[in-house]
Amino acid sequence: MPITDLAYAQQLDAQDPLAHFRTQFVIDDPDLIYLDGNSLGRLLKRSRDLAEDLVARQWGQRLIRGWNEGWIELQSQIGGKIGQLIGAAADEVIVADSTSINLFKLALAAVNFNNGRSKIITDDLNFPSDLYILQGVARLAKRPLQLQIIPSDGIHGPVEALAATIDDDTALVALSHTVFKSSYTYDMAKMTRLAQDAGALILWDMSHSVGSVPADLQAANAPLAVGCTYKYLNGGPGAPAFLYIQRDWQHKLGNPVTGWMGHENMFEFALNYERDAGLRHFLTGTPPVLSTALIEPGVDLLLEAGMDKLRVKSVQQTSYLLDLWREWLAPLGFRLNSPTDAAQRGSHISLGHDEGWRISQALSNEMRVIPDFRKPDNIRLGIAPIYTTFADIHEAMSRLRQVVDKKLYERYSLTENVVT
Ligand SMILES: *Cc1c(COP(=O)(O)O)cnc(C)c1O
Repeated sequence: MPITDLAYAQQLDAQDPLAHFRTQFVIDDPDLIYLDGNSLGRLLKRSRDLAEDLVARQWGQRLIRGWNEGWIELQSQIGGKIGQLIGAAADEVIVADSTSINLFKLALAAVNFNNGRSKIITDDLNFPSDLYILQGVARLAKRPLQLQIIPSDGIHGPVEALAATIDDDTALVALSHTVFKSSYTYDMAKMTRLAQDAGALILWDMSHSVGSVPADLQAANAPLAVGCTYKYLNGGPGAPAFLYIQRDWQHKLGNPVTGWMGHENMFEFALNYERDAGLRHFLTGTPPVLSTALIEPGVDLLLEAGMDKLRVKSVQQTSYLLDLWREWLAPLGFRLNSPTDAAQRGSHISLGHDEGWRISQALSNEMRVIPDFRKPDNIRLGIAPIYTTFADIHEAMSRLRQVVDKKLYERYSLTENVVT
């Protein structure tokens, strides 16, 4: 059967051992194809029910007693479960703040530890917030550092150039495990070794890999990581992030934003800060309980499905998408802005087109397919293997083809929305 037949996609769905997980999500409108789970994951039915309980019962009735009925444990409890997804022990991961803030805390702690060295190294594929945070860290450190942004070819991580640049003057290497535009995914163990051989710390941002690309922080001997929960973990808009510190590093590093939640005995209300002995000293203030609690159902569901199985499906789905791109879209001027090698990519694919912005507008407004757009020309198609079907991919690619075939994008304006 030709791969371009809808029946081919339907057959893959019928054989998919993870297919039943889709029924766990709120999907009221099956004709709307959602390919933006890498920016905001879908809502779980369990999360919708939990939100009702959190507001009406836990807050409404239990009031302040809620803190001792589970709220105070949430950050460690959910952190421990996220740890199982990324190869970390339960006491090495905690939910707190946002990815940007966690990156700031860990990066500043790392460079202040590696005080005698003068460089922070990253690449030009890193997320802008990460670059801006690192610029601030370089300025604010005990001893100011220089931030070096290693150029790439726009798609692949500049592994060779990084290897040539990381040296005994490097305090910190900070990279996205899976990069946000092209989806390139670093070999975590290899890069960690490279940094460690030079005596540098390495900090991984797992925002675009957690929940879609298996990682084993322990096996990689990785000291530091942060990540996002509202993407593939389906934690909800703006849900708090997580931070990971390998056990051996927890007592060596100091949180630069010392607050009462990190105190060894917060309810002593002492005048001076004495940090908690474990990872909790990287907490700062009171957590947003409602949005923290809502992270748990998504993490539970991914654990139930299993990261290895999710990865198998994700690779099969991104490969299928690329097969359709070759057949239908490459002849219409779509370029592949992601790695062709499945081992080097995460769970989203970026397709470039000269009319990328207007095509993505027509696609979501008229064709009921939701991708997102990343300048200059990337239409990002995010596959969340826990709920994306092969038929979704077939249909989305077919509608994308129609947008260009029928020139539907020509009706759209060249100006952009606030949130792309
Ligand atoms: C999504 C993402 C972020 C988001 O950071 P916020 O603090 O939640 O705004 C940061 N870094 C990377 C690599 C991301 O993919």
